[in-house]
Amino acid sequence: MDTKYVFVTGGVTSSLGKGIISASLAKLLQARGYRVTIQKFDPYLNVDPGTMNPYEHGECYVTDDGAETDLDLGHYERFLNVPTSQANNVTTGRVYSTVIDNEREGRYLGKTVQIIPHVTDEIQRRMTILGESGDFDIVITELGGTVGDIESLPYVESVRQLKRKLSSDDSVVIHLTLIPYLRAAGELKTKPTQHSVQKLLEAGVQPDILVCRTEHKLTTDIRKKISLFCNVNQNAVIESIDVETIYEVPLTMEKEKLDRVVLAKLRLPTSTDANLDKWKDFLFKLKHPKFEVNIGLVGKYVELPDAYKSINEAFIHAGAENECKVNLTHIHSENLHNENLQEKMKDLDGVLVAPGFGDRGIEGKISTIKYLRENKIPFFGICLGMQCAVIEFARNVMGLKKAHSTEMDIKSKEAVIDLMESQKEVSKKGGTMRLGAYKCKLEKGSRSFTAYGKQLISERHRHRYEFNNKYLKDFEKHGMSAVGINPDNNLVEVVEIPDHPWFVGVQYHPELKSTVDAPHPLFVRFVKAAIENKK
Ligand code: GLN
Repeated sequence: MDTKYVFVTGGVTSSLGKGIISASLAKLLQARGYRVTIQKFDPYLNVDPGTMNPYEHGECYVTDDGAETDLDLGHYERFLNVPTSQANNVTTGRVYSTVIDNEREGRYLGKTVQIIPHVTDEIQRRMTILGESGDFDIVITELGGTVGDIESLPYVESVRQLKRKLSSDDSVVIHLTLIPYLRAAGELKTKPTQHSVQKLLEAGVQPDILVCRTEHKLTTDIRKKISLFCNVNQNAVIESIDVETIYEVPLTMEKEKLDRVVLAKLRLPTSTDANLDKWKDFLFKLKHPKFEVNIGLVGKYVELPDAYKSINEAFIHAGAENECKVNLTHIHSENLHNENLQEKMKDLDGVLVAPGFGDRGIEGKISTIKYLRENKIPFFGICLGMQCAVIEFARNVMGLKKAHSTEMDIKSKEAVIDLMESQKEVSKKGGTMRLGAYKCKLEKGSRSFTAYGKQLISERHRHRYEFNNKYLKDFEKHGMSAVGINPDNNLVEVVEIPDHPWFVGVQYHPELKSTVDAPHPLFVRFVKAAIENKK
């Protein structure tokens, strides 16, 4: 079968949840047996979001192949349980750099290089790469931004052209829009949607399906009106009403028959029913917990929950797996110090110290870890969180009072965390960290080994600094063990304190691999440890 293409655009406002709608549709199609992938096209000029801080863009998601990507790719993986790659996230910056490289190489020799056709051709080439791989029956392409934005225009034009080139039943355009409710008038309003569809029409694209975000149910009259004025069939006006958790959206979309409408338009059979048993089982556990724990997330971007998106979601998966409600409290590391720790930690059953960069809030993280270590409270350190655990242990157990990371103190004489050898020559900032999946070998009998149930694992990384092996023996002598090592280059990937109920620090980012179908084993065990600690 030819690959089919679904394009998802957004109108009226940003933040309507295009990523979740795309992921939910993909889930439904996957549950019917189709091989589906999702890709995101972002209209900004950064080559990737790796150089933006989390306040700008939320978390930077990392794929197995080492791409720094939009956080929507995290949703795709969490919903589909299929890894994504660099090809799944394209930005205007990436498109332009290819076009400009081509121009310098003389590939367009003699021509004036322009947005149309050169940029739009490059966008279309990238829109069809995954489709042409033969690995997927359906490729869903989400366009970032809102139609009508200047920077979105080349993308909408590319969709228009691609639709022309594909046969009419090989592509479908879904437009996600908002139907606001005016309380004073007591009415749902369709005008913004009409205008947003007009914007798309001006660009030559007629949407086939409208997914309408709304706080109230769409009446038949409203559906008729939208259908009439936006040129879509009435059964293609899909209500997307606010729900408690994003994980319910596939079910609300199934009820609204979004998958059926898409498949009918693509002339694909709808005979097999979507098998969502596992998904429903997860949702049931999520909604009917038997236990409850309070977990602290200590970090420095706590004002913006999206900065720790994958961690938040990993706790939802691990909570459901343990039939436990996890109340996650984000705590600013700058507000933590020895004097207030007892007060701040008193209701917590476990604490995760977050990844991060730079020295803001670092001493708060280190003091927190000391408190958790001494008071035998479950601790989970990720990346910078693990590095802080190493620094704390060196300072307070091994007596290396000046121990630090050279990221914070470049002249440190006791650099227990140091710049990786491979980073010493790096001068450019974009895409140059140690990125993507690397192997790690776990020590039998360690807590991590028990969690994973196997010795050889693969996890994703995003860092420049590492545990300094010069101090390894000294650490082990004092009771902190390196239980996970990269077998190729001996980098320490996991540290544990065996003489503690649950003290685990990992140099990698386990949160990036947690999905509904496969909750991450370390998060599952950490929540379990928190439940036990509470008892
Ligand atoms: N800043 C640390 C490093 O680069 C940790 C990075 C992280 O937490 N992702 O090594």
